[in-house]
Amino acid sequence: MNLAGQIEQYLPQHLLKLVQDISGQAVKLEQRVYLVGGAVRDLLLGYPNFDLDLVVEGNAVKLAQQVAETSQAKLLVHHRFGTAKLRYENFTLDLATARKETYARPGALPAVTPGTLKDDLIRRDFSINAMAISLAPNDYGELVDPYQGKNDLEHHLIRILHPGSFTDDATRILRGVRYEQRFGFEFEAQTARLLKRDIPMLDTISGDRIRHELELIFREKRPELAANRLGDLGALHRINPSLKGDGWIAEKFDKARRLKKPSQLPSLYFCLLIYSFSEKKIEQLLVRLNIPAKLSRAMRDTLRLKTSLPLLDKSSLKPSEIYYLLREYEPLAIQANAIASDSSMARRHLQLFFAKLRYVKTSLDGEELKRLGISAGPQMGKILQVLHKAKLDGEVRTRADEKQLVLSLSLRPER
Ligand code: ATP
Ligand code: MG
Repeated sequence: MNLAGQIEQYLPQHLLKLVQDISGQAVKLEQRVYLVGGAVRDLLLGYPNFDLDLVVEGNAVKLAQQVAETSQAKLLVHHRFGTAKLRYENFTLDLATARKETYARPGALPAVTPGTLKDDLIRRDFSINAMAISLAPNDYGELVDPYQGKNDLEHHLIRILHPGSFTDDATRILRGVRYEQRFGFEFEAQTARLLKRDIPMLDTISGDRIRHELELIFREKRPELAANRLGDLGALHRINPSLKGDGWIAEKFDKARRLKKPSQLPSLYFCLLIYSFSEKKIEQLLVRLNIPAKLSRAMRDTLRLKTSLPLLDKSSLKPSEIYYLLREYEPLAIQANAIASDSSMARRHLQLFFAKLRYVKTSLDGEELKRLGISAGPQMGKILQVLHKAKLDGEVRTRADEKQLVLSLSLRPER
């Protein structure tokens, strides 16, 4: 089957020209270049995806170096894996030397040797991701589909390529569910059976790799679908016994999306995912997923703040009181609680802090106080604090109000 026409329609002109140019240069090095993976799958589905992965039969690093010399691209090379990244202004291209992989033990990173395109395709996760399109001039546009990925796409099936696939690499359990839920597909029967059997193999996967796959899920349009499914399959429980993907999560994730930019969502989803944890249990999860320090702080703060929420559940609070209660918490923890709390009063106070109070500043600063005759030291610190509190509570509004308050404070004898 030839897809030359579809490629021309699908890729923007500048990308098309670039991959054709790369393929032309490959010919001179006696190499062949293929488009592989997600972009091929999405081209057949008719979904835009310009995250292009190229596989090179030959030497991807050498080819990428040559391309970088004749274009505006920045080059990043991984000699050990035979891969290179060409970074252009608005996009990146990944080039990988076709490779063969063997797994010394489940969950280990595979040993890698150069191979053919077919070797490179069989090491992949699912048939729908194991297709390639030739970009070589002599068979340009030809679909290479040794594992019937196109047929599976048409039947909406997620299928592994060999029975040991999930044992070799159990991150594929998380990946499979991500595609199943993104596309509304189903697992092919044997794949579904093996996936359930191999849930315990998640124990062989490092924290960094599991976290990375969760982050990929969190970049989906509706990650709660995959979270629910992973909950039903027992995969979340296997990662950590307190993890759940239920209706509550679905509702809160949906709410989070209405508040946050997509790039900031994954961290917020992590904070919501652990909302039902006890403060003690969260430590286990932070270790298991090797969560980086800043996010760990936000997740711990989320639970610490949750236990203090009753303090915010009062209608009589002054803005300054809300400010002092919340100023020590990570902003993400504030937002997570503003989404997750059951109390509408607490939610309103959290939102007020997040949107407004944390930005409130006095107009006068230390320098200006000096000009008003107040010398630096504890007294000035105290005056600035009173000024800030008055500003939070709306007792002073303008610069003139602030000046007046400062003068009245500095005239008042110290007790
Ligand atoms: P998308 O980015 O839309 O989720 P993709 O196919 O581009 O899909 P990537 O995570 O970017 O997914 O991976 C690129 C390709 O690498 C996949 O299509 C798949 O063939 C292969 N791949 C990635 N991770 C694995 C894995 N754990 N095991 C086997 N193959 C993998
Ligand atoms: Mg991709």
